[in-house]
Amino acid sequence: MPVIAVVGALWGDEGKGHIVDYLSRDAEIVMRVQGGDNAGHTVVNEYGTFRLHLVPSGVFHPGTTCIIGAGTVVNPDTLLQELTELEAAGVDTSRVWISDRAHVVFPYHRQRDELEERGRGDRPLGTTRRGIGPAYSDKAARIGLRMGDLLHRDWLHRRLQQAYAAISARMIALNGEPPSLEELIARCETWRERLRDRIIDTIPVLQDAIRRDARILLEGQLGAMRDLDWGIYPYVTSSSTLVGYAAVGAGIPPQAIREVIGVVKAFATAVGEGPLVTEVHGELAERLRRGGPPEGWEFGATTGRPRRCGWPDGVALRHAAWLNGFTALAVTKLDVLDGLEEIPLCVGYRLPSGEILTHVPDTPVLEQVTPVYERLPGWSGPTSTARRWQDLPEAARGYLRRLSELAGAPVRYVSVGPARDQILMVEDGALL
Ligand code: GDP
Repeated sequence: MPVIAVVGALWGDEGKGHIVDYLSRDAEIVMRVQGGDNAGHTVVNEYGTFRLHLVPSGVFHPGTTCIIGAGTVVNPDTLLQELTELEAAGVDTSRVWISDRAHVVFPYHRQRDELEERGRGDRPLGTTRRGIGPAYSDKAARIGLRMGDLLHRDWLHRRLQQAYAAISARMIALNGEPPSLEELIARCETWRERLRDRIIDTIPVLQDAIRRDARILLEGQLGAMRDLDWGIYPYVTSSSTLVGYAAVGAGIPPQAIREVIGVVKAFATAVGEGPLVTEVHGELAERLRRGGPPEGWEFGATTGRPRRCGWPDGVALRHAAWLNGFTALAVTKLDVLDGLEEIPLCVGYRLPSGEILTHVPDTPVLEQVTPVYERLPGWSGPTSTARRWQDLPEAARGYLRRLSELAGAPVRYVSVGPARDQILMVEDGALL
C-alpha cells in the first residue's frame, strides 16, 4: 500500500483528526510530520472525546505504530500529560515513538512566545503562545536541542552550555527572566527518565515499512493558508504545512508519497489573525460556529478561542490543490450547512480596481480584496444520517461536485458528523 499524506487545505482545523482516525484503521504507521502542540485534533470514538496535540490520531487503533516525526517540535511536558490521559482512558500507548531529530520546546520558548506576542501590542500574530515559533526559530539559528540529545548526557550538557548565552540573551532582550542552566539540565534529566524508551531513530523503521509496502499515513497539522511560505505571511505557522514538507518531516523520499488527501471543511474557519476573505459576523457566524453536535463546534482545540467563520472559499481551495497536488479530497462538516437556502461559494477575489483574481495573492493584496460569490442551492434534509453518496441530497452532491471541480481532484470522503461512522466513502471517487 502506498504512503498517504493527509494535509489541511485551508486554515487548519479542517477535521484532519477525524479523517486520520478513520483512515488509520488499516494503517501500520501513523506519523505526525510538522508542528507542535499548538493545534489539536479532536477525535471522538469509543474511548471518549480526545483533543490530541502531539500524539498521532492513529493511537486508538491497536497495532498501529504512532511516530512523532523529525519535522515536529515537541513539548515533553504536554506529551507526557497527553500520554497519561490516554492511558487513564484505557488506550495502549506502548507504540508511540518520537524521532530523535524532533526539536524540544522548552518552557523558555513559551515564555518568549508570550513576551513577543505581548510586545506586538494591538497587532498580534495570534499565536497560540505554545512556544512553537520560538522553538522553530532556535532550530534555524542552530541553538535548539533535539529529543535525541536527551539520550546523551555529555553531549546534552555541552549543547546546553553552548546555546545558553544565546538563549539567555533572547530572553533578556524581551525583559524576561532567563532560565538557569541548572534548572534546564534538571528538566532534561526528568524528561530523559520518562521518555527515553520512546526516542528512536525513525529511518530504519520507515525504510523497513516502505520496503514491505506497508500502509503509512502522514498526518499534517494546520493548513495551506497557514503555510510558512505560501500562507498569509506573517499570520502563519512557523513550519511548512504542505505535502512537500511531509516527506522532509517524515524522512522519506518525496516520490514514496502516492496519495495526497486534502482535508477541506465545507465552510471557512480560522483561529487567529490575518485576512479571511469570506468572513461573516454576528448571527450568521454563530450559525456556522455552533452547527452540528457540540463536540464539533468551532472553538479552538488548544486555546478554546471562538473560531472566525466564513463562507467556503474556492480560491483558497484551488491554491492548496495546486501547492499540494491533491489526489483526492475529504470534505468535512457538510452537516453544518444543512438547512441553508443557498450556499455562497467564493470563486474569485475582487481587487479595488475591479479586476478579479482566481488565485491567492500575497498578503498586502489579499487584505484589499472582496469575495466574488457563486450562489449554489442549499438543501433542507439532514445529511448526518447519510452513509452513501446516493443518500445525500442532490444539492449537497452538486456542492461537492463544484468543490471537486475547483480543486481538480475527486471527493473521496465526506464527513457528515463527528462520530466514526459518519464518514462516507465515495466509491468510484470520480466526481470531477
Ligand atoms: P483538525 O485539527 O483538522 O483535526 O480539526 P479539529 O479537530 O480542530 O476540528 C474538527 C472538529 O469538528 C472536531 O471537533 C470534530 O469532532 C468535528 N468534526 C469533524 N468532522 C465533522 C463533521 O463532519 N461534522 C461535524 N458536525 N463535526 C465534525
